Amino acid sequence: MFERIFGQEKHVEYFSGLVRDSRADGSFLLTGPAGVGKWAYGLYFAAIYFCESKDTVPCGQCNSCRAIETFKHPDVQFLFPFPNLEASKKQVTIFPFSDPNSGAKYSKATYEEVQRFIEEKSEDPFRMVRFEGKPNIPVDILRDLRKFLRLRPMWGGNRAILISDIEKMAPRCTDLFLKTIEEPPSNSLIVLTSSVPERLPATILSRCRNLSLGTPEEEDVLNYLKEFTGGKKADLRFIVRASRNSPGLARLLMEEKAVEMRDKILGIINSSVKRDGYLDSIITNFRPEFPIASGGVDAANLLIWILRDVIILQNSGNIDDIINCDRAELISGLTKHGTTRRIEDFINEINSIKLATDLSNVLPVTAFRHLLSLIKKNFSKAS
Ligand SMILES: [Zn+2]
Repeated sequence: MFERIFGQEKHVEYFSGLVRDSRADGSFLLTGPAGVGKWAYGLYFAAIYFCESKDTVPCGQCNSCRAIETFKHPDVQFLFPFPNLEASKKQVTIFPFSDPNSGAKYSKATYEEVQRFIEEKSEDPFRMVRFEGKPNIPVDILRDLRKFLRLRPMWGGNRAILISDIEKMAPRCTDLFLKTIEEPPSNSLIVLTSSVPERLPATILSRCRNLSLGTPEEEDVLNYLKEFTGGKKADLRFIVRASRNSPGLARLLMEEKAVEMRDKILGIINSSVKRDGYLDSIITNFRPEFPIASGGVDAANLLIWILRDVIILQNSGNIDDIINCDRAELISGLTKHGTTRRIEDFINEINSIKLATDLSNVLPVTAFRHLLSLIKKNFSKAS
């Protein structure tokens, strides 16, 4: 699996140097956009930390490397936000480090979701795993993980823990957690990840070595995506650009049929331009087939990507800079509808809809109708 991890050579070199100089113990925080590979690099760093080879690390061949790749190394533990499903059924412990006597038990449904996460991550460590229900990191699980850190390593060497998306820790976890990273046991590596470090308490930020992961090159993400699809190259380039070169997000957009959905939105805009009545009919009858503001393929994002491209073409006219590069001609046709200023206002209105859908219980169908009326307002009149 390690050979498939790409894109952060500078950080890998830095971390390998620390391991060589025996300065890698302690806490690291990996930050960067969703899907960029923070989890993948947490795993990779753990492998470098443990690898028994003296040459290329991680070698992928030694006992430690092989155990880490399959998530079976007894001294390397993973924690991530998970949803508490069927919360009243406390049946099983769900992580290998869980103390069976501590009472931190969850339903079998939760156990299965945790297993699915691990399976999907071992198939592709860049993959963004989505859960039904709201995931978080509960305090009792964190307590178990602290106990694990105090145990003697099973294989007699180092210990490592990887905790992803730590902003999803229950608020009362923070103090408990600070103690862990303030006094980490020796021979221990703690890797935390977050795509929203601005939401983390300053006390956590100041106690970690912070590595900010940049996005890989467009061509590298294209090559990564090609492993999962026989799709057309142009389609993939749109997806890679929409993901802002974030491998995990690109894969998610591909799986959520971003091209097909984007073309639906373009069809709606075109119908508004032509005033052929289709837009009016869907405003009254349409049931949205895609979410409004999911962060992946959603109507708000798709529309914003199109509008952003229209603004670029209105100003620089360079189609190499647009996201919807496979539909450049259609996007060019939209540039005469509305000034850049008006389209910017349109984007602001969409962002307000996104926010309202995230924060309150605005019905998706209501939000979608609102989006459609905005399309009508902006694209039905020439200016
Ligand atoms: Zn190795």
